[in-house]
Amino acid sequence: MSTRRSFLAAAAAAPAVLSMHALPAIGAEPTPDGTAHVLPALPYAADALEPHIDAKTMTIHHSKHHAAYVAGLNKAEEELAKARISGDYALIQHWSKQAAFHGGGHWLHSMFWKVMAPPGRGGGGKPTGKIMAAIVASFGSYDAFTAQFSAAANAVEGSGWALLHYRQSDGKLLILQAENQHKLSSWGSTPILGIDVWEHAYYLTYQNRRADYVKAWWNVVNWAQVEQNLVSLGG
Ligand code: MN
Repeated sequence: MSTRRSFLAAAAAAPAVLSMHALPAIGAEPTPDGTAHVLPALPYAADALEPHIDAKTMTIHHSKHHAAYVAGLNKAEEELAKARISGDYALIQHWSKQAAFHGGGHWLHSMFWKVMAPPGRGGGGKPTGKIMAAIVASFGSYDAFTAQFSAAANAVEGSGWALLHYRQSDGKLLILQAENQHKLSSWGSTPILGIDVWEHAYYLTYQNRRADYVKAWWNVVNWAQVEQNLVSLGG
């Protein structure tokens, strides 16, 4: 009957809206046409996080490093699609690794820009509300959380991240490290906050003093976004 046909037509016209929950993504946003990943714009000016993160670092980090992860992820997925057509899986290990490395880089950087905000204008201070309650429940106190998180960030071997995850199975927050963009990952939990401790994230200002960068970074953490990330996962 026409009512049923109208309903099906309406549903077909808006599949993305109907099939995805309405809350914003934590990391990389859905792609416009589902065929290629795109570099998201920075949510503030390149100099907005100064003096804690300098404008030149932000510009290079976003427009060169993050852009390269987007390109690398698209390339890896293109090559895997070609392999499915040709049946030639001689390079399956290479492209699978590339997909994990660049996919991790794209997702984590997309999250990273959003969990920071200009100091005093959304960035810094102490968390409140649900995210503060979750931190206290999981770590005992805010100070215990920041001490563990900073220690994890400072101790990452080589290039990597310290990440605050939300684990849906028991509702707990946990702190993990990641080497590169993906190694040391666990399963069943999702990052809601992270600090990039690759040298490209801080070297121009801090050189080898990573601990100074980590200490300064707390001044730009966007706790409202972190709470939103938590809530979007049902926490
Ligand atoms: Mn980076």
